[in-house]
Amino acid sequence: MSDWHLQDSDLHGYAGGGLAGPPLWSVESHLGACASCRDRLASFADPEAVDTGWARLDASLDAPVPGPVERLLLLLRVPDHTARLLAATPALRLSWLVAIALTLAMTATIARLADPIVFLAAAPLLPLLGVAVSFGPGIDPTYEMALVAPIQSFRLLLLRCAAVVSANTALCALASLALPDAGPGAAGWFLPSLALTVLALLLAPRFGTVTAAVTVGVGWTALVAGLAGALFTAAGQAGTALAVALAAALLARRAATFDTTRRLR
Ligand SMILES: [Zn+2]
Repeated sequence: MSDWHLQDSDLHGYAGGGLAGPPLWSVESHLGACASCRDRLASFADPEAVDTGWARLDASLDAPVPGPVERLLLLLRVPDHTARLLAATPALRLSWLVAIALTLAMTATIARLADPIVFLAAAPLLPLLGVAVSFGPGIDPTYEMALVAPIQSFRLLLLRCAAVVSANTALCALASLALPDAGPGAAGWFLPSLALTVLALLLAPRFGTVTAAVTVGVGWTALVAGLAGALFTAAGQAGTALAVALAAALLARRAATFDTTRRLR
């Protein structure tokens, strides 16, 4: 049981759609656990904004027959609202995946002509782009739906990023076949791409997805520039694996905390 409650200003901001990122997630977690704040929320709701919200939500619910991604998820027995929220992930759209595939093809070509490290260094940055656009107003057509659906925003972010990393991994694996050295060394991008994604997810609740992804991307670029090939030797890869394991453990703990907040009632 929590003995603190949301400020009027937070409820007002939430009702008016003026909150985003971490403040939004924290207000939402509390609302999920606290009936008294949910009751107070009603008095802050601007009837016009509520109508607009529902109208937009209606439109997205009535929208189109499920696409191939959504049908696949339903086949895998993912609950239908989760499937729709996942399928609407900006970084899983066909146009996005085509852009990623073209970027990879270009990078692989440069790597063939110049140095394979170009590919190993650039490929891990692509899932970060996906993380950056994976959640938020203005980018995500189902943002309103995500707020009212019975699923935590943070959990949704994790689910979406898992889907984005899987799609990117498949594309990178294909592209790395074009590298001059198609041996095990050509897979050196895999562990770094996991590490960067998990790190960005760890930072996202505090700084927002865009800032988190940019920070991690800049850090990675500096690291590659400083250490050059050392990251892609056996020792470098072992170090990266260790970093992935540590960061994933932290992330699991954070996800559990979000869940507990929700179950507090
Ligand atoms: Zn409360």
